[in-house]
Amino acid sequence: MAMGILAKLRAAVRDVPDFPKKGIVFKDITPVLSDPALFRASIDLFLERCRGRKIDKIVGIDARGFVFGSAVAYELGVGFVPIRKRGKLPYQTEVAKYSLEYGEAEMEMHVDAIIAGDRVVLLDDLLATGGTSAAAAVLIRKAGGDLLEAQFLIELESLHGRHQLEPTSVTSFLKY
Ligand code: AMP
Repeated sequence: MAMGILAKLRAAVRDVPDFPKKGIVFKDITPVLSDPALFRASIDLFLERCRGRKIDKIVGIDARGFVFGSAVAYELGVGFVPIRKRGKLPYQTEVAKYSLEYGEAEMEMHVDAIIAGDRVVLLDDLLATGGTSAAAAVLIRKAGGDLLEAQFLIELESLHGRHQLEPTSVTSFLKY
């Protein structure tokens, strides 16, 4: 992948200050999605990390992880599994709690979404504190999934989220 594409992706990610609350700088990836060349380029980054590996399922995190994850799963010809915020999935679920800055949140996965031994890649738009993806990793492992790697378009390095995910290997493409 040419350097140019990473610079273009970085330039397209929009900083929105004080969203969803004061003090947070939200990294808005919708300008990447709406640009055909950049959307394709972002999917290609994930694909390059996945090609040549035996993967059974891509797991995407609610909600932007669904956008990237489904395109990657489609291209690889593997299944897609959504991990969602509590209360959104209709069937029986396994739940994982994690802590936020204030209080707790919960992520859910369908009990039959991952079969023991499935080789899984976890994917989301952005790694911040790592709480969300660490909860997702717990759900994947509880189901017997073999979590090969977690991949993110963006990593906010100052929050050290990748440590929360240990021992899972973490790949990100745009580091801030
Ligand atoms: P965390 O659990 O702190 O790693 O947060 C990761 C989840 O929250 C991901 O699903 C992100 O999409 C979202 N998120 C957290 N911080 C930001 C941010 N500054 N900009 C955009 N999305 C964020």
